[in-house]
Amino acid sequence: MTTTHEYDVVVVGAGTSGCYAAATIAREGLDVVIVERKTADEAGHIACGDALKGANAFPDAIPKSQIEPAFTNTGVDHGRFEIPQEDTVLDIPIPGELAVIDRWEYGRRLIDGAENAGVEFHYDTVVQDVTQNDDGRVTGVRAKRNGDVVEYEADVTVDGAGSLSILQDKTDFSGTTFDTNVSYSQFCSAYREIVEVEEPVEWSDALVFKPAEVAAGYIWYFPRTETTINAGLGFQMTEEPMKLVDDLKRDLRARPEFKNATVSDKLGAALPTRRPYDSAVAPGFVAVGDAAGHVNPTTGGGIAGAAYAGKYAGEQAVRAISDGDVSEEALWHYNERVMDHFGGRYAGLDIYNILSTAVDVDELMGLMARLPGEKLAEALYSGTTSFGPKLIAQTAKESYGFWSEIYQFYKTKNVADDLMRHYERYPRRPGALEGWKAERDRIMDHAYEVTGADPKY
Ligand SMILES: Cc1cc2nc3c(=O)[nH]c(=O)nc-3n(C[C@H](O)[C@H](O)[C@H](O)COP(=O)(O)OP(=O)(O)OC[C@H]3O[C@@H](n4cnc5c(N)ncnc54)[C@H](O)[C@@H]3O)c2cc1C
Repeated sequence: MTTTHEYDVVVVGAGTSGCYAAATIAREGLDVVIVERKTADEAGHIACGDALKGANAFPDAIPKSQIEPAFTNTGVDHGRFEIPQEDTVLDIPIPGELAVIDRWEYGRRLIDGAENAGVEFHYDTVVQDVTQNDDGRVTGVRAKRNGDVVEYEADVTVDGAGSLSILQDKTDFSGTTFDTNVSYSQFCSAYREIVEVEEPVEWSDALVFKPAEVAAGYIWYFPRTETTINAGLGFQMTEEPMKLVDDLKRDLRARPEFKNATVSDKLGAALPTRRPYDSAVAPGFVAVGDAAGHVNPTTGGGIAGAAYAGKYAGEQAVRAISDGDVSEEALWHYNERVMDHFGGRYAGLDIYNILSTAVDVDELMGLMARLPGEKLAEALYSGTTSFGPKLIAQTAKESYGFWSEIYQFYKTKNVADDLMRHYERYPRRPGALEGWKAERDRIMDHAYEVTGADPKY
C-alpha cells in the first residue's frame, strides 16, 4: 500500500538542522512535515559530546528559553588540554558562551519547539529514495513506515538527515552545482558514553581534551554536571581505525576520578570534519547541518552551524516558494549566507585539520605545550592567529627545538588566511561557482604543499 502526502516543504531528520529549518518555515505559515526514522520516544537521542557553543545567540524560530532547561552546566569557561607526552596540562580560554547539555532532553525540547511553531512530525518513517521530475527538480521523497511505502510530494525538500545522508546517494545531481566531492576520508568516527562518577570531578568548569594515540584523534571528558560526564573519543577516517570502545575503557580505567563509575548511555556516529559543501542546493533541494558539512572541523562542534543553516535554508525555501521559483538560482542565497556566517571560517579551520593529519602526534603535542593558550584558542575557533617569527622571538626559550614546527604552522596559517579571504568572495550566482572553485583549488594545492598532507578533496 502506498500513501501520498503533499506539503509545501518536506524536511528529513528531526535533528537540530531539521527542527530549525522546519520551525522557520512553519512560522511563515507554510505546511511543513519532518520525516524521522526514529520512534517518537527515541527522536532527539543523538551521539554528541554535549558541548553547545554560542548558546547565547541561537536563531529565534525555536527560542533559547525553550531549550535552556536542557543546559545542565553553564559554568564551563576553558578547555583543559592534557598532554601526557609532555607531562603538561594547558588551560585555554573558550571565547563566547558555552553550555554542556543533557543532549536527549535538548533534542526533545527542540522537537517540542518545532511542534509549537506548527511543524508536523512523522516518526518511524525511513526515507529510502528521492523523487525527481523529468527536468531533474527534486519533487519529494519516498519512505517506508511499518513495511508500507509513504510518498511525500513537496515544492522543496530539505535534507537534514545528518552525516553521509542517503538522500544524496539517491539524487541525480548532474547539471547542478550541488557538491558531490564527498568521501569517508573527510569524516571522523566518534563514540561517547555518559558516565556517572561517585565524587564531583575537580574540573567541572572545563572541557577536558587529551590526544589519542593516533594523530588527528582525541579523547574528551565534558562535565554535564559535577558527577555526570560525557566521555568520548574520535579519529579522522584517514587514520588507522581506533578501537573506540576499548580505547575509551582503557583511559577511563587509568583515571582515579572514574573509580567505581557506572555507564548510563552509549552512542557513536560519524561527523564531517571537512569544509562546508561548495554548494548545498539543487533545484527543489537544500542540504543543512551535517548533511552539508556545517561542522567546525577542528573541534567537531556542529550544533550551532546546524541551527543557523536550518534558519537560512528555511528562510530561502519560504522566499522561493512564495516567488513560485524553486530553481537552484532561487535557492542560491542560502549558500551565500552560510559561507558569510561560518562557512568561510570553517573552510579556514579545515586547513589546520589537514595539517594535523600530516604531522607526527608527538611533535604536535610538543608544539602545543610550548605555545601561549590564547594563540591556541584563536587557532581553534577563529581560523586565524598571530603566529610566526614574532611568536618565536617572544617565546624563544620555551619554544626552542620547535622553531621549524612553528614556522610550518605560520606558513599554514597564511594559507588559511588566504583561503578565508577567498571565501569572502563567494559568488552571488551559481554560474560563477566554477571560476571561484578554480582559484580556491589553487589555494588548496598550496595548502597541501605547505602541510605535506595528501589531498583531502
Ligand atoms: C560523538 C559525537 C560527538 C559530538 N560532539 C559535539 C559537541 O560536543 N558539540 C557540538 O556542537 N557538536 C557535536 N557533534 C556534532 C553534532 O552532533 C552534529 O553536528 C549535529 O547533531 C548535526 O545536526 P543535524 O541536525 O545536521 O544532524 P543529526 O543531529 O545527525 O540529525 C539527523 C536526523 O536525521 C534522522 N535521519 C537520518 N537518516 C534518515 C532517514 N533515511 N530517514 C529519516 N530520518 C533520518 C536521524 O535519525 C536524525 O534524527 C558531535 C557528533 C558526534 C557524532
